[in-house]
Order: sequence, then structure tokens, then C-alpha cells
Amino acid sequence: MKTLPPLKTGKARTEFGHVRPLEDDAEIPFAIIESAEPGPCLVITAGVHGSEFCTVEAAVRLMQTRPQDIKGTLVVLPIVNIQGFHKRSIYVMPQDGKNLNRMFPGNADGTTSERLAHWLVTNVYPQADAYIDLHGGDLDEQLAPFTIFPGSSEKSKELAVAFGLPTLVASARGGGTIHAAAALGVPSILPEVSGNGLWGEQTVTQVTDGVRRVMRHIGMVSTATAPASEATKIVSMWVPAAPHTGLWYSHKEVSDKVAKDEVLGEIKGVFGEVLATIRSEQEGFVLYRLTSLSVNQGEALIGIGTSL
Ligand SMILES: [Zn+2]
Repeated sequence: MKTLPPLKTGKARTEFGHVRPLEDDAEIPFAIIESAEPGPCLVITAGVHGSEFCTVEAAVRLMQTRPQDIKGTLVVLPIVNIQGFHKRSIYVMPQDGKNLNRMFPGNADGTTSERLAHWLVTNVYPQADAYIDLHGGDLDEQLAPFTIFPGSSEKSKELAVAFGLPTLVASARGGGTIHAAAALGVPSILPEVSGNGLWGEQTVTQVTDGVRRVMRHIGMVSTATAPASEATKIVSMWVPAAPHTGLWYSHKEVSDKVAKDEVLGEIKGVFGEVLATIRSEQEGFVLYRLTSLSVNQGEALIGIGTSL
């Protein structure tokens, strides 16, 4: 099966199965939960980064949603990067070594990740009334929970507020899942919860509770738990990339305040020589940071949020 089955049949159903987006690549699992009552179609993806296990587990649990408990259709693709999941890859799809969340809107004639992005953009996103791409802090990333939304999409911002995490990141950068979906007019958000690939009851529930609040916002359910009481901050995010390969020594922890020009960390060589000193271009606070001692040139070191 190259495409998902029909999402709207008018009959209550739960359909579990596998779809093979690319003829020469692995199948990925899906769930379609359709209510007998009409309503919106919410698409959820997880495992775009295959080792962000908290959100994979949250998606697996959301697949147990019952048709009689919702209106409309819930579509869940819990492990989009299935080979990355099994191999515990960081960031990339093992098939081509590329970060799927940088490949959108994709290319029908490109490498595996480019073609998978194209499949999502042409086959899945156009059927959605809202889209959530769940992320969970990769094996080498620590973070304070936040939700990224395409900064130019007011409806996406509303979804981000509904999800209920304390910090919202307005993103201008293209190339990702949510930007491609928003370009099709689909309100889209990317929540980040947990980190270092860890998962547990508290973080998984934080994700499933947020999804339920979005479902309430779009009219799929009538009740949801209230979010934690922290005020919602809207920030931009600045992310310096490593100018050298080497050993990364962060001077900052997640949530620490940062002044403009303050030293965020250093990249050193194995003999202790300083290869690069990373200073903040922004005043703000640390949204996430690389926890790995090993860093490769071009990789994200740290995310600094600055209030808008
Ligand atoms: Zn991710």
C-alpha cells in the first residue's frame, strides 16, 4: 500500500496497518481512528527523529483513542523514520544520512528522506485540518519544553497556545514538517518535550495531555485537563552551529538566563586547545543544548530563546 486508506468513510472505525511510502524502502505503521460523527481531521506524526522516544510512546498511546470518544478523524504515524528508530539514529535517516526535518517540502526524485518528505506533503498533509509533529529531544539534546509554530501562521499559534507548554517559539525557518504543512494552509505545531531520548510517565502524559487540548481546541473532544499554570512566553530562537568538529563544553544549563555577548560554551581539541568560543548574539534563556561531548562542524550547539 503506497497511500493511506481513505480517512473519511462516515463509519466509526479503528484501522491499524502499514503503508510503504517509497517502493524501495520500509513500511511505516499508521492508525486511523474515525468517529461516526463528522469533525476535523487531525494528523499526528512522531519519530521523524527516530530516537525521540517520549513522543513515539505518546503517539503509540494516542493510537488507542476510541472512535466513540472523538468527532472526526485522528491519523497517527507514530514512527515516520522507522529505520532510524530501530538503529537508534540521532537526527538522520540511516538510508541517506539526512535530517528529514530539514528536507521539506521534499523532492519526488531525491534521496530517501527527500522523497519521504515529498510523500508526506503530497499524500498526507493535504488531508489534514490540523497537524502536530511530535518531537522529544534527541539522544544528545536536553531541553525545557516548548512548542514551535510557523511564525506567520496565526492559526498555528492558536494551536501552540492550546497545546499548553510554557514557551512558544515563532519560527521563520523553512525546510521542516510544520512549515511545509502550514504552506498548504494547515495549522501546524511542533512540540518538544523530554530530552536525551528519555521517556517516562510524566513526560509522555505531558505530550498526550497537550494533544488532547489541541483536540478540544479544534472540536474533536469536549474536555481536557488544564495546562500547568506557567504563563505562555512567545520567543524567537537563535541557534549557533558548531564552527569546528571537536569537544563541546557548554557553560550553560537549560533554562539559564543569557546576556548578549556572554560566553555560552567552548569547542576544544583533544589536547585542550580552544578551537572556538561561542558567544550569544541574543539576550534570553537556554531552550535546549547539546549534551554530547562530541560535536561535528555544522551541528546545533544550543538554542537561545528571546522574548518577542
Ligand atoms: Zn526532533
